[in-house]
Amino acid sequence: MQEYAEYGDQYIDGAWRPSGDPGSIAVLNPATEQVLATVAAGGATDVDAAVSAARRAARAWGATTREERLALLTRLRDGIAAAQAEITSTVVAELGAPVGFAGAVHAGLPLAVTSSYLTLLAEHRFEERIGNSVVLAEPAGVVAAITPWNYPLHQITAKVVPALAAGCPVVLKPAEDTPLVARLFARLVDEASFPAGVFNLVTGTGAVAGAALAAHPEVDVLSFTGSTAVGRQVAETAGRGLKRVALELGGKSANVVLPGADLTRAVNVNVANVFANSGQTCSAWTRLLVHRDQYEEAVAIAAKAAEKYVPGDPADPQTRIGPLVNAKQLERVRGYLDGALAEGARLVVGGPDPLPGLPVGFYVRPTVLADVTPEMAVAQEEVFGPVLSILPYRDEDHAAEIANGTVYGLAGGVWAADTDTAAAFARRLDTGQVDLNGGRFNPLAPFGGYKSSGLGRELGRHGLEEFLQYKSLQY
Ligand code: NAD
Repeated sequence: MQEYAEYGDQYIDGAWRPSGDPGSIAVLNPATEQVLATVAAGGATDVDAAVSAARRAARAWGATTREERLALLTRLRDGIAAAQAEITSTVVAELGAPVGFAGAVHAGLPLAVTSSYLTLLAEHRFEERIGNSVVLAEPAGVVAAITPWNYPLHQITAKVVPALAAGCPVVLKPAEDTPLVARLFARLVDEASFPAGVFNLVTGTGAVAGAALAAHPEVDVLSFTGSTAVGRQVAETAGRGLKRVALELGGKSANVVLPGADLTRAVNVNVANVFANSGQTCSAWTRLLVHRDQYEEAVAIAAKAAEKYVPGDPADPQTRIGPLVNAKQLERVRGYLDGALAEGARLVVGGPDPLPGLPVGFYVRPTVLADVTPEMAVAQEEVFGPVLSILPYRDEDHAAEIANGTVYGLAGGVWAADTDTAAAFARRLDTGQVDLNGGRFNPLAPFGGYKSSGLGRELGRHGLEEFLQYKSLQY
């Protein structure tokens, strides 16, 4: 007997409506490989209905006062706060994130980000005098948001909330692996009573629904998070339509430990960073760079730290690391591990072999690789799994050269005897964020990439400005 829900509807123009496109997508629990639910496989019909609804809502929504938008976004924030447990259990089920991490990050971060935009909206200067001009910050138009599965609700709120705050209506196309938390978000928007058409959800595949949304002529702003390959493709489409585009893409971030730093802490924090969310974090420090004199010591510390990560049932509060999101990711990560070993990397912990106690579920062994050289695929490409590569460097110039030696530039870490030394080195890195001596994540700081890691910034004031355009009135 079938025991899962079949959701055949989309949230369009202020109501749940039957999808106008054929087909459905099965959503799996990556720990059990069981079907959790099916959702509608939206296509051109649903996308067109959603974008048309957003277009119809755009002028009135753009003309609302700051106070009106604040009142609705406050209700949404309160809804997200009240739904923390449901968000957590949904992300545990469809992503396989361990329940403790899911509660703190997958549910907690969207709440923090949404709250941050209440303050930013209350304070933002939408009008500014420059010489004989008054410069008005106006909504940039209809926003298409295409999001991935790895931080599914965070990536939704990081786009949708500032867009709504700026006065833009939104059509969201979430990842096919994690549509259930997106549907939950749509329910919370609905319960907050936003005007019809201001927020719309179309579930569907990237190739069909995502491509139709990126190409829709009535979309003004395309905000995409996902792989660099698809990012390049949607940017090309957006370019042809002269749409504004914001891209949050991959990363291959380096954590550089300079001599004089607290090596034990730096390595332990790095292991926790790269194994969080089963390594499926675009900003993860996947490359640990250590001076050659401290190299074997760092490898030993990493080995000890990594052994504490035993994959298991994500619903168990004791579990620190769950499965990967799907079979494709499992194959991809194992492929990178096989490749690294073939290229001469030394296996310290983990490896490509299946986990004996876990025959079901998309589990991979948390892995530490030593003797990785900068040109190996595992040191150049985004693995998106719990894999730490440790590389030795000769001196600071060499460390900067290795750190900057990939096409990416999203995040990074620097550890030194003092913050000034760490900050001086961080200035040499071609990357969008650097944490100094373990500086904690700041949801108000701009987040985004240099080089092939993306275009534009999310979060905080910079994230709000992505959804504004400027009009100058001369007096
Ligand atoms: P993806 O880029 O294929 O998917 C991201 C989003 O884009 C999803 O909503 C997807 O449906 C949509 N999409 C896919 N093809 C599209 C198209 N042609 N037009 C419009 N939208 C489209 O990413 P993925 O397959 O989920 O993951 C593959 C790799 O991407 C991962 O292994 C990882 O390296 C990277 N990734 C990065 C991030 C990040 O935050 N930077 C997040 C997820 C995945």
